[in-house]
Amino acid sequence: MARYRAPRGTFDILPEDWPYWNYVISKAREVAALYGYQEIETPIFESTSLFVRGVGEGTDIVDKEMYSFKDKGKTDLTLRPEFTAGVMRAYVEHGMHTRPKPVKLFSIGPLFRYERPQAGRFREFHQFNVEAIGSQDPALDFEIMSMAWQFLEELGFKGLSFQINSTGCPKCRPIYVEALKKYYMEHYDEICEDDKRRLERNPLRVLDCKNPKCQPVIAGAPKITDYLCDECRDHFSALRRYLDTAGKKYTLNHRLVRGLDYYTKTVFEVWAEGIGAQNAVCGGGRYDGLVEEIGGPPTPGVGFAVGIERVVMMLKAQGVKVPEPRAPEVFVAYLGESAKEEAVMLSQELRSEHISAILSFDKRGLKGQLRDANRWKAKYTIIIGEEEIARGEVTVRDMESGEQSNIERKTLIGWLREKLGKKS
Ligand code: ATP
Ligand code: MG
Repeated sequence: MARYRAPRGTFDILPEDWPYWNYVISKAREVAALYGYQEIETPIFESTSLFVRGVGEGTDIVDKEMYSFKDKGKTDLTLRPEFTAGVMRAYVEHGMHTRPKPVKLFSIGPLFRYERPQAGRFREFHQFNVEAIGSQDPALDFEIMSMAWQFLEELGFKGLSFQINSTGCPKCRPIYVEALKKYYMEHYDEICEDDKRRLERNPLRVLDCKNPKCQPVIAGAPKITDYLCDECRDHFSALRRYLDTAGKKYTLNHRLVRGLDYYTKTVFEVWAEGIGAQNAVCGGGRYDGLVEEIGGPPTPGVGFAVGIERVVMMLKAQGVKVPEPRAPEVFVAYLGESAKEEAVMLSQELRSEHISAILSFDKRGLKGQLRDANRWKAKYTIIIGEEEIARGEVTVRDMESGEQSNIERKTLIGWLREKLGKKS
């Protein structure tokens, strides 16, 4: 029979990876609490049309990357390729607009995109996703950016930088898009086939083209920030003022766009050193038209998403130390069959006292058990033999100092609790 493997672009998060994942996830929850964001979990699949509307036709995600299927009831469903559309659907469905604004939500979980797998790019991946819904205040854009930054900085990253831009609004962006198209038509012979298609479907996306041939054309393209309406210009300068005052460095990146009508004003990314081409760890921005697009009342929103795999890869690449998993406090070893029963019962008693305890199974000699104890890096090893049982004692070895003592079985739990610094 063929050997099974995890599907292409997916991977197992093994026990040895979890110290990194736990470190990142607990930091996410910690920072979310600092900024007053509450957790929400939405389904892993939703109506296909929610993503078609909420992510947008003409995007790579909708056009090429969705895991869409009909279930047995013939309903069109899609494994979520991003969080925002589902969170906004929940916001509308549960009438969250009646809550104090902005409604601040975060989620952590898996997403699915049919992409070409490569370093830092998978078909199943995970994000820490944050949304602030119900306010247009640029101070909220600043809060969202600061939160992303603090999260990454406190994880221990070096070489972080912000890339920011404004994508305008439905009032000013069309004028820019016309100027961009006009410019691109003048350079039609110098651009790639993909760009020619983008000019038809989603013109802003030409600015995002990775084809080397198109780079000189992009460099000379008109800049959206020269076309912003008064409202968008004021919003963008207020945000930059906040960033300046806070001493946060940022690069104005005219190529940063989202390319859909309901993405408005602020867009940003956080870049970090360490994993080469895929150096964006975080993407975010405003989507003041999105809730309306999916059938809700006009509702502004701003948010970001951090890719957890990329964060973990970069933590490893930058050599950031993460807390090690806790070693068991006690290893219980036994000599002989009747001692084994005693050991099994003692392990249970220790665990019910919240002292972590492990023991060996199957037929294992004392030497082998002590090797296990070393491998587990247990703090104490308790050795139970027939003689000890007869005397009502156990032998306890401090695995660090090698010091051994005989402790009365009756007082053992109290003795351990004291040694382990546990409050009674
Ligand atoms: P990229 O430009 O790298 O494709 P994106 O613009 O598609 O990213 P978003 O949809 O904004 O990314 O998602 C935010 C973050 O999620 C990215 O910065 C990245 O860290 C992570 N991410 C996106 N796609 C993948 C993927 N296929 N595998 C792993 N992480 C991903
Ligand atoms: Mg992508």
